[in-house]
Amino acid sequence: MLEHLKDQAPDKILALVAAYKADPRDDKIDLGVGVYKDAKGKTPVFRAVKKAEHRLVDEQTSKVYTTLAGDPAFSDAMVDLVLGDTVARDRIAAIATPGGTGACRQGFELVRLANPDATIWHSDPTWPNHISILNFMKMKKSPFRYFDEETALVDFDGMMADLAAVASGDVVLLHGCCHNPTGANLTADQVAQVIALLKDKGAVPMIDIAYQGFGDGLEDDAATTRAIAGAFDECLIAASCSKNFGVYRERTGVLMAIAPDAELVKKAQASMNFLNRQNYSFPPDHGARVVTMILTDPELRADWEAELEEIRLGMLELRKQLAGELARLTNSDRYAFIATHRGMFSRLGVGPEMVETLRKDHGIYMVGDSRINIAGLNADTVPILAAAIVAAEK
Ligand code: PMP
Repeated sequence: MLEHLKDQAPDKILALVAAYKADPRDDKIDLGVGVYKDAKGKTPVFRAVKKAEHRLVDEQTSKVYTTLAGDPAFSDAMVDLVLGDTVARDRIAAIATPGGTGACRQGFELVRLANPDATIWHSDPTWPNHISILNFMKMKKSPFRYFDEETALVDFDGMMADLAAVASGDVVLLHGCCHNPTGANLTADQVAQVIALLKDKGAVPMIDIAYQGFGDGLEDDAATTRAIAGAFDECLIAASCSKNFGVYRERTGVLMAIAPDAELVKKAQASMNFLNRQNYSFPPDHGARVVTMILTDPELRADWEAELEEIRLGMLELRKQLAGELARLTNSDRYAFIATHRGMFSRLGVGPEMVETLRKDHGIYMVGDSRINIAGLNADTVPILAAAIVAAEK
């Protein structure tokens, strides 16, 4: 049987990790994989997570199954974090999922159950796994322009022109904040225009929010999601706790489905529970319980918010430093976008040859589309990267 399996192309980013590991150079710099790293290159456990885990070990008296939707307190806490009071709680069905990936997958599954003919529109580019999962599920999908290679900002005219072809019932997948891989995000005014267009078309928005707190702060990073969720009768939201709680391997995420009335909430909830049952039964609980404890305990929450804010401001500072250094070296503002971008990533907008040169000649590893992980830098490596970019341009 197994001989009939076809070869699977290796994940490009994971292949990059392997290439970095194998590189013997001491001064190599890893700007590839999308994991937060501090100035020493470590991905530490948040203080609040450690405390919550200790408490959980002490206080947990049973590990018996939760519900198919996961711990209801987790859904409540995540609805509160992502949506605030934008949408009444009784209009939202929610399930815990294995990470944001699980939330995206279950969201697509829900679309397939409800409307198998729907086309899922996604930004070009988007997180590659969106496309990979949609391909695997054999769902209809269509890209919309998003990134202007010239300015390294959002190609808003292109985006709106492409979304004009959205059909009623189609699903439009948007990033809540900190767009991956580009770092370029919509302004509030642009979000309002997208909302008006999608409402006009009768489309259903789906939001993937995986970096809340990494851009402009917890509240500001939720603004796009809240504006959209508040404007539609129906909306899907896939949220990840991997980055903002640093619980990557615990697989902690949530899928929310906003519905117009109690009957459809009940229907959506039953289908979402069913999807969890079919795919893995009960969702992972450890990370969800830790996140819930942090969000609902004022002391833990304050400590988590403080640490998250430190991380956010650190990345912002690195952005400013890198943009400043490149402005100085090139005597131009053509890399000013790095300071405008938000989140962990920026797409530099340079070609594959230059990405290759940076790797070969300078030991600097970035994704092939020239996405860099800002958190892979520190105050010492920013000037090295800037100098290497300028050298490679020649
Ligand atoms: N969506 C986006 C846009 C992402 O960048 C990621 C993480 N790379 C995810 C979803 C999924 O994250 P996870 O499954 O690790 O929670």
